[in-house]
Amino acid sequence: MDEMVDAILMSRTQSTATVQLTETLAIGGEELVLMAGPCSVESYEQTLSIAAIVHQAGVKVLRGGAFKPRTSPYAFQGLGAEGLEILRAAADEFGLLVVTEALGVEQLADVARVADIIQIGSRNMQHFPLLWAVGELQKPVLLKRGFMATVEEWLLAAEHIRSRGNERIILCERGIRSFDSSTRNVLDVMAIAQVKQDGKYPIIGDPSHATGRNDLVLPAARAVIAAGADGLIVEIHEQPEEALSDGDQALRPEEFVQLVNQVGDIGAALGRRLA
Ligand code: PEP
Ligand code: MN
Repeated sequence: MDEMVDAILMSRTQSTATVQLTETLAIGGEELVLMAGPCSVESYEQTLSIAAIVHQAGVKVLRGGAFKPRTSPYAFQGLGAEGLEILRAAADEFGLLVVTEALGVEQLADVARVADIIQIGSRNMQHFPLLWAVGELQKPVLLKRGFMATVEEWLLAAEHIRSRGNERIILCERGIRSFDSSTRNVLDVMAIAQVKQDGKYPIIGDPSHATGRNDLVLPAARAVIAAGADGLIVEIHEQPEEALSDGDQALRPEEFVQLVNQVGDIGAALGRRLA
């Protein structure tokens, strides 16, 4: 049985390591794809203003959570369906693509209607009915690594999506839990190199959730690109102290521009350029 599974997995090596996002934009090829925006969609004004910053920095994909997986049920849970509409409208003002999370199967149709890339969050990496449901779609899926998941479990979660027919999968390393509370998670840089060696999926890194600390986001982003990732997803906020979620790890606009420049330089050293 194991040999059969290995044979299935082997037969898929290389064939879909690039995921086409639009006719002219692909992830997994020479170009590095950056995704950026607020942790949560908080209002139209906030999202529009960040979309402008993202666009001005030359970035093509706007992130933002409408349905938020919060540890506490008393924390801000996101604007829900209204947040989806806000995100889409703000992105459309600047011709940006949208990546946003589907927390459950019941909201997937709404998320799929507005999103160009459907995000499956860390806490849902092994939410199998959700994986099967996005597997039935033909939209790109951003599968974040579970913070307690091995690389093998993560690749098999991707296989759950793929086995239902959707091969447009992008992986995202976002840090794993450790004994050290000095950072929110530990960025597993070598998981990025392993996934690239495996050759089946494009992979990006999330230096925001990996570190949980504004002062470590830039070095983590540099490490992600140096390890061979195909891009990044980064949280930004104009007033991090006022953010309704994850303010501690948000980059201010000027810090984000610095990040874009630095990862551009590191990418160039590796023969890659920013999309
Ligand atoms: C997010 O990107 O909004 C998020 C909640 O990340 P993660 O699932 O990696 O915690
Ligand atoms: Mn966040």
